[in-house]
Amino acid sequence: MMNVQELLRQKLGKEIASASNAEVYSALLQMVQELSKGKEASEKKKKIYYISAEFLIGKLLSNNLINLGIYGEVRDILAQNGKQLSEIEELEPEPSLGNGGLGRLAVCFLDSIATLGLNGDGIGLNYHLGLFRQKFEKRLQKEMPNPWIEEQSWLVKTDVTYPVCFRGLTLQSRMYDIEVTGYENQTNKLHLFDVDSVDESIVEEGICFDKEEIEKNLTLFLYPDDSDEKGRLLRIYQQYFMVSNGAQLILDECVARGSNLYDLPDYAVIQINDTHPTMVIPELIRLLIDRGMEMDEAIDVVSRTCAYTNHTILAEALEKWPMDYLKKVVPQLIPIIEILDDKVRRKYEESVAIIDRQDVVHMAHIDIHYGFSVNGVAALHTEILKKNELNNFYKIYPEKFNNKTNGITFRRWLLYCNPQLADFLDGQIGTAYKKDAGELEKLMQYQDDPVVLAKLLEIKEENKKQLCAYLKHTQGISLDPESVFDIQIKRLHEYKRQQMNALYVIHKYLEIKKGKKPSTPTTVIFGAKAAPAYVIAKDIIHLILCLQEIVNQDPEVSPYLRVVMIENYNVTNAEKLIPACDISEQISLASKEASGTGNMKFMLNGAVTLGTDDGANVEIHDLVGDENIFIFGAKSDEVIAHYEKEDYVSREYYKSDPDIRAAVDFITCEEMLKIGQKENLVRLQKELLNKDWFMTLLDFKEYAQRKEEALKAYEDRMGWAKKMLVNIAKAGFFSSDRTIEEYNKDIWKL
Ligand SMILES: *Cc1c(COP(=O)(O)O)cnc(C)c1O
Repeated sequence: MMNVQELLRQKLGKEIASASNAEVYSALLQMVQELSKGKEASEKKKKIYYISAEFLIGKLLSNNLINLGIYGEVRDILAQNGKQLSEIEELEPEPSLGNGGLGRLAVCFLDSIATLGLNGDGIGLNYHLGLFRQKFEKRLQKEMPNPWIEEQSWLVKTDVTYPVCFRGLTLQSRMYDIEVTGYENQTNKLHLFDVDSVDESIVEEGICFDKEEIEKNLTLFLYPDDSDEKGRLLRIYQQYFMVSNGAQLILDECVARGSNLYDLPDYAVIQINDTHPTMVIPELIRLLIDRGMEMDEAIDVVSRTCAYTNHTILAEALEKWPMDYLKKVVPQLIPIIEILDDKVRRKYEESVAIIDRQDVVHMAHIDIHYGFSVNGVAALHTEILKKNELNNFYKIYPEKFNNKTNGITFRRWLLYCNPQLADFLDGQIGTAYKKDAGELEKLMQYQDDPVVLAKLLEIKEENKKQLCAYLKHTQGISLDPESVFDIQIKRLHEYKRQQMNALYVIHKYLEIKKGKKPSTPTTVIFGAKAAPAYVIAKDIIHLILCLQEIVNQDPEVSPYLRVVMIENYNVTNAEKLIPACDISEQISLASKEASGTGNMKFMLNGAVTLGTDDGANVEIHDLVGDENIFIFGAKSDEVIAHYEKEDYVSREYYKSDPDIRAAVDFITCEEMLKIGQKENLVRLQKELLNKDWFMTLLDFKEYAQRKEEALKAYEDRMGWAKKMLVNIAKAGFFSSDRTIEEYNKDIWKL
């Protein structure tokens, strides 16, 4: 039995009570790294390599303590010595190595792979300054660098390096590792590649830097601004750097495990997370040819090794690179891509070609032709891929298509972020649900038990109070814990329709001004980063921040309605917000949200979804039934039909409905223009009236009605608690352990 207290004292070199929080943090970090290392599994023959441009890891200290099984012990030892683990955690910076769902999914998957004892590592890039840290200034988003690598961090420098050749430039890479501790199981690795020559001092104002100095800028930021050619070229440099390192590592490791490379598929399976790592396919082919393999053989070997996950049907998110760009950065891949295209053209029609008539390379097409599996991330999404977006490919390769509904790790999104609920579940249904999430269903037997229901309400209330204290402490925001917490936190995108929620706020504000006072006050909470070059998304943030000021400062309205947009939405904030949520806003335009994972986190923590039948909401709806979710809006086939017929005209809705008209007009009313920027507000209003590509006004009316119904239902406290209970009980399906078991059974076959 290890003695945690002794180990900690050893690392500190002094008594815990006399150490500073920073010293304790550093000692804990060393201790956890040592304990994780002791759990590295002996290598089995076949291994899954999960390649992703994003890994939104979140803080690791508590996560690792939980997975090592010593969280409670450490917390108690610290408390006995006058230290708070929660204060020590605050010292850990959160790396922002991802945008949102896709990057967070990759990390949940690594957790489940290690937890299930599977042989598998992640491969990505070590962005020094992350995506960006969001600041609000004059009610506008400002982007700042988000440095996270400190003298002591979770990153372990290795001596693994590879040469990576670009046109006229060869860089020597450096691999760093972060240990991935499975829950009461083995330790795997996340490999993050970097170059020693990266220079953080080239960053000027905000997140601006010289995009041409590749040696210095290559791994500074995740997806730097791609609104100009230099930015787009830098992305190609990053992507190729990632996959070339990944491919060299994979081949070396497989050879070391006994592969002769002709049998590579027996040693490796590569999961390509969205199209960003697609160049791993031609790169592996190139490397195999270098090592003496024939082209056709190399193509065959690689095609049996790679599998592709599609995350979106949004046209602008499906990557396409002009041949010209690729020629400027990675000329060595051009002949291979041309051969891959030629083979496709000989067999199939133009629409599935890799290089189109404009000489643009469709990255997803490479993945589909030259990978053995194509999966969508929720049942509806996969159906849309098969029937619509990728139908031409489905007709050729029906056997490649499969669905893997996303999941989340319950270690972070329940055990860690909601210990009160986890403790209560332990007492009520036992602890087996921690490893077998289906066990949560046992809670169903208490759906009419008033004691259990009251306890769920009490836990929620406590979590709301804790959120209030946290937001006061970190952002100076005051909330009323007695109000309904209605939360929409996710990347800012028009398809996710934060603008529809903002229009609801305006509508409600106007109603209250007219004298319609609601019986239960509501707090509408937003959190979202907008891509730096996404103009309308930034206008929506501006709208929300203006509304926050107008609504909260109106003495007639603020007792009933408050709006807050938290700054710098990230994993750490999410962990505080989600357990405190009553109503989970999942209001994307049907067909557009591939899956969503925020929806699952909220459900697991006893929030009730207000949402469209989109992505995994459809599966949540099926699981909990009509009474335990508030569904509204056009269905995906109606939406798809509108796009096909091009018959949606937002202005018609504006003209025919006085509530919609009043809400949209308000965006540029005198009061708003007094505090807001005219340019931003006018542009946003015009967008809604003249385009509204994601059909906000189509669903607005039904959304507002459904929200009123949810607020009404909330007043019946026991009725609401039962909805909470059913949501928690049915959330087991969304454990990423289930998702990973399916990937392994159907795709990886480890
Ligand atoms: C889960 C998560 C997301 C994804 O949220 P969606 O609502 O599914 O878009 C984004 N960002 C963070 C920080 C998350 O934890």
